[in-house]
Amino acid sequence: MFRSHMDRALQEARAAAARGEVPVGAVVARGATVLAAAGNRTRELSDPTAHAEMLALRAACAAAGSARLPDADLYVTLEPCAMCAAAIAGARVARLYYGAADPKSGGVAHGARVFSHPQSHHAPEVYDGIAAEAAADLLRGFFSARR
Ligand SMILES: [Zn+2]
Repeated sequence: MFRSHMDRALQEARAAAARGEVPVGAVVARGATVLAAAGNRTRELSDPTAHAEMLALRAACAAAGSARLPDADLYVTLEPCAMCAAAIAGARVARLYYGAADPKSGGVAHGARVFSHPQSHHAPEVYDGIAAEAAADLLRGFFSARR
């Protein structure tokens, strides 16, 4: 039975904001089971690759002992960037659910459109606009507070 993990991803995004990170959260799940959840930690880890999706995928792959998660789904509050989209394709994630669109840095529906390239080894089923308002509100609040 379908169960959305976007609420959990939003929790991770809020926790990221509380740490002073750009509020993006991600969950890797197999059905109702959460395999890993993470928020952005690029500042904390001084690591430009420490996006929520990358951290959640790394943790889920490590736990599974496999670089591929063909029966897993990834939920993320913001459209993944090109780097994360490539990692999602590499992990053979079955379905991608994301919240807010990201015309500035997104790499799925914007920019590189990674999954539509013949060089993409795998394209997940993509569902966008899931809890998009809540995810966008978090980002707007975060950036307006910093201005
Ligand atoms: Zn990313």
